[in-house]
Order: sequence, then C-alpha cells, then structure tokens
Amino acid sequence: MMKSMWNLVLTILILCALCSSSNAQKKHNYYDGPYISVKGDDIKLQWIANGKVKDSTVHKNAATTFKNHRLPTIDLSNLDFKKDAFIRYDSVDQFVALSDIHGQYDLFIKLIKAQKVIDENNNWIYGDGHLVIVGDIFDRGKKVIETLWFLFFLEKQAEANGGKVHVLLGNHELMVLHNDVRYIDPKYRYTSGAFKTPYNEFFSQETVLGSWLRSKNICTSINDIAFVHGGFSKKVLEKENSLKILNQTFKDNLLDTEPEQNEEDGLLSLLFFDNGPLWYRGYADPSGFNLENANEILNLLNVRSIVVGHTSMPRIVSLHNNKILLIDSSIKFGKTGEVLVYRDSTFYRGQLSGDLILAEDKTNEDSSSPFQYIYNVGDKDLVIKIITDLDELIENKEYEPYQPAQLIAYHNSEFNRSWDIRLRARGNMRKKICHLPPLKIDFKKNTLDYLGFQGGDKLKVVLPCNDTRNYQQGLYKEYLVYKLYEQIDSLALRTKLIDLVFEDNGKAKYEFTGFFIETEEEYQERNDLTILEKGIITSGGIERSNLLKFAFFQYMIMNNDWSFYNRHNVEFIKCKNYKVPLVVPYDFDYAGIVNQDYAMPTDNLGMKHLREANFRCKDVTIEEMKSIVELYNSKKDALLKTVENANYLDKRNKSQFLSDITRFYKKINDEGKWKKKFLNK
Ligand code: ZN
Repeated sequence: MMKSMWNLVLTILILCALCSSSNAQKKHNYYDGPYISVKGDDIKLQWIANGKVKDSTVHKNAATTFKNHRLPTIDLSNLDFKKDAFIRYDSVDQFVALSDIHGQYDLFIKLIKAQKVIDENNNWIYGDGHLVIVGDIFDRGKKVIETLWFLFFLEKQAEANGGKVHVLLGNHELMVLHNDVRYIDPKYRYTSGAFKTPYNEFFSQETVLGSWLRSKNICTSINDIAFVHGGFSKKVLEKENSLKILNQTFKDNLLDTEPEQNEEDGLLSLLFFDNGPLWYRGYADPSGFNLENANEILNLLNVRSIVVGHTSMPRIVSLHNNKILLIDSSIKFGKTGEVLVYRDSTFYRGQLSGDLILAEDKTNEDSSSPFQYIYNVGDKDLVIKIITDLDELIENKEYEPYQPAQLIAYHNSEFNRSWDIRLRARGNMRKKICHLPPLKIDFKKNTLDYLGFQGGDKLKVVLPCNDTRNYQQGLYKEYLVYKLYEQIDSLALRTKLIDLVFEDNGKAKYEFTGFFIETEEEYQERNDLTILEKGIITSGGIERSNLLKFAFFQYMIMNNDWSFYNRHNVEFIKCKNYKVPLVVPYDFDYAGIVNQDYAMPTDNLGMKHLREANFRCKDVTIEEMKSIVELYNSKKDALLKTVENANYLDKRNKSQFLSDITRFYKKINDEGKWKKKFLNK
C-alpha cells in the first residue's frame, strides 16, 4: 500500500518559513531540485525556485512533504531504500525495458503509461511485472532530477505490489558521479554555480539520490535475458563472466574512482574503457558482429538474450532472432521512442500509441531512413565522418564514378555507428567549379536493415565549395534560403546542416559543415506525390498560386538560375489534390542573396549583375498580385525570424539577408511601383 502524499499535513509552506535565500540567480528563471541529504537526524534540502537558491534543514521527526509546484513532490518520511542485491530473476511473466532517457522525463512517462506500467496519476499498476531502465538517465535533457525522484518512489510502489523496478547504471551515470559534466544541461551548471558546489557533490554518498544510485547494479538477468547499458564484450567475458562479480566490482571500485588507463590487463581498466559493459558498442556494428559472435557471448554468459542501450537507433532493433536487442530508440531527442515489452514469452516493440509490434518484425512505417534520422537529430548533435581516397574523388569528380568509403556517425563526440558505403560526386556546375563536389552516398541496403533503418538508402550532401571561411558562409547562406522557402511552401525540399569530417589515410583533411538534402525518392514518398520527369511544362501549365509563390520567392532572393524549359533547378510535381503540376525550386547557389564568389549573372537573360531582381512571371492580374502580396506579408515575421535565428551566419551576412528581405517587402508593398513593373508584362 502506498501512502498518499496528500495526507501529510506539513508542507513546503512550513519548510519555506525556514528557507534562506541567497545568491539569487535572477538571470535564469528556472526550477531545479530538490537535492536532499540526510545527516544524523537532519534532512537538508537544496533547490532552485524561479531562478533563486533555496535551502532548508528539517528534523526527521518533523519532516513530511516537500512540495513546490514546478518540482517533484517528495515524501520526506520515506527516504530510506533497500540496496539492490544481484539476483537472477526467473518466472517473471512480463517486463518493460527502455534506456537512454537522458532527461526526457515527459516522453518517458508517456511511453510507460502507454504500456500500462503506471496509471494516469503515475502510480504503479503493473502488478508483479518488472520495469528495467537500462542506463543513461543523466545528461543532455532538462528533467534528470524529475526522472530520478520518480523512479526512486516508483521502485517502492512496485516492490509493495510484488513487482520490481531495476535502475541499471549507464556510462552517463558514472560520468556525473566522476564529475565529468560535459553533457549536463546548462541549468544544472547554473545550479552548481549558484550553490558553489561541484555538480557531482549533489550526488555524493551523503545525498539520498547519490547513495541510492551507488546501490544500483550495472547488469541484471530476468528469465535468462541479460540487461546491461553498453554490452558485454568478448574481452571482458573472457576475463570475468559472472554478472554478480561484475556488479560487485563496479560497486566496490568504479563508481567513485577512475582506474588507471595504463594497467591494460587489469579487470578494472578493461571494465572502464571502450570494451567495458557501459561503453561497448560492438553489437551495433553490421559488419563486425555476426550470429556466431552472438552465440559465443550468450554461451559465455549462460543466457539466451542480451538487452542493451547506449547506441541510438531509429527504433528498437532485434538482431539474430532476438538474441541481441538494441533498445536505445532515441528517446533522448524527446520526439519519439519505443520500449521493449516482454509478455507471453514474446518480445514486442511497445509504441507510444500503446500498440505492440513483434520485435523481429522489420516492417514498420514509422521506421526512419538515414536522411529522416539525420533530419530529426538536434542541431549540432551529430558529426559525420567520411573516410575515403580524397585525391581520387577530386580527380574523377567530372565522371561521377562510385568509390568505396566508410561513414561513421558520432553523437556528441561519442562513437556511434559505422558503415561501409560508396560515394560519388554529383551536381552540374559545382563539380566543375568547386574543389570538393556535392556528394551522393549509397548505403548497402542490408547494413541499414540490420540497424532498423527503412526507406531511402541514399544521401545527398552539399559541401562548401572550398575549405575557406568565405565558402563556409556561402554554404550557410544557401542553406538558409532552403529554410526560408520552407516558410513559404510546405512542399519545400528538406535540408539539414551537419558537421562533417573528411579523412584520408587516418588524417583529418577537412572539417566543415555541409548540408544534407532530401533525395527525390524520399521527397515523393514523404509528400505522397510524383515528380514529373518528362514532357514540356511551361509556366502557363502550372497551378497559379503555387507559381506565384515560386516566382515571388525567386524575385526576393534575386535568383535567376532556373528555367522551366530546361528543367533547370526546378522539380515539377503532381499532387493528388491538384489537376495541374506544381513547381518546387532547389539549388540556390547562384542567387543574388547568397552571392557566392563563383556565381555569375545569367547571360541569356541579359543580366549585368548577379544581384538583379527579376520577376519572371507573365500575365499577372491585379487580384493575383494583391493576394500574393498578402500571403508574403503574412510570412514576413516568420522569414525575418528565420534569418535572426540563423546563428551560423556571421553578422555581416545576416544583416545583408535582413536588408535584402526588407527591401523586397518595401517594393512589393509599393502598389504604384509594382503596377508598372509586374503587371501585364
Ligand atoms: Zn550510454
């Protein structure tokens, strides 16, 4: 039976009478905590409310409930907990497992609610079922403390109902305990500064959460299914294959101190670094880990399956008939995710909708392609490294032959995944003019299937023309134009900035930012439309309001580098709801607003300057003009805001964009002028 916290009389209102407020952080209007430690008979509380430092000490006998509308409610009379012993559990009818919450408390709650682990009021309703958190509650997100306190109390509720919550430690738990705070959300940094306390001290042995975390295992076993954050490498298992000893070794030696890296043969350093159970990523390597390897590991551990997190996937991935289950379904991005559900001796992927999909079932409409995955990652979250023979690429770029390469994706400098791919140059002018051409990347379909990706197996990437600051800005400007068109037309092609490293013979040769652009195939599928490859389409044949959107945009960005007749830098598309074709622009590197060094005015239009604005649309009526001006006026704030938020642009380029757009708005709102200029041409 769970005591209701509401029955307790003394609330934080009384605690607050004892509060001292010092060191107010007025700049940051945020909430954090509570951080609680128990010393003798005193309970010491620290928290941040509305950016202000708060602390208070209460006697155990007087302690009731900590309540603050934006912070977790804590039953202060219930802060004791049982230490987790290691037990191999069996005959468990059902469990739900997930990993890598990384502070995404709200999404986490939604996911376990959908699987009826908790009810509407977040109370345990899973009976004697088990909930397994496979590491990495800490870092990245903003609701780490909420997640920890929630699990602290849920564990007691589960226990009282014959169920069990397993909180297994991940590498990010260890990082925070070791005061490696590279990945904490800035708000936790402010808290640390405001209390003048190193962040790890909020989780010291004396604190409730700190000692609770130190009582946790790194691995467990339920019905002969092992759970661990990273994975068990063969190297580790050959030295030590007892789950019990592995847990004890972490508890005794590794939670507070880092082993010396140089004792290479020692168990401690083996457990702590790349091959250690909280860091290992070997299972997610499509070319380096096969069924034989899996069987070997399972035999060494004497289990039938292993469930791991740590390596982010677009969804839960089952390998080798559920022998290995990769369950980090990218909850950390806070958008979507899945949980592993085990019931009736079967593994399922539990969806946010509550639906279950057989874990081995690879068909899933929700699964993403590499491009969709890239598109959804947070800005600056991903680095892509490409290793290939760069001399060969540059030498042959005109002929566009494919050549072998390796692609490695990193999240926040952690190694993530690696693929053998092939790539080639593409693009018309750029491959001639630029040192590095735009690229097309081709994955082997089976290496994508292996990791749960689905859909397009190609990527298109645009690189800065050359490795200079100026060209990097040029690329940013072109990318920004794509983002501006997204504001105008929902049918715009999608793009995403990504940091890239090009490596040749082990040496990093280029490091810059490029952008990925959706392929035609994926664009068609996403929008449920067809790109028209053949036939002559003139401006007269295109849906009028779409044509005007397009022509006005090209006018705004001073782009003349397009032609319907040659299908140059335009896609004609056929949508279900329209009888006539629509048009979508791409490739903006010759636009006046982008103003690339290599761009020249278009000869056949008789242009003298690149930055000439030409309105290339015929027979526009006054009514059409009025309605398109109205549409653009309604988008003005959004366009200017998109530019304001483009922090990758330097000051000079940003203000040039702003003044170009502002000038465009002046012109289109001067009725007298446009009547003369645009109408009945
Ligand atoms: Zn991890």
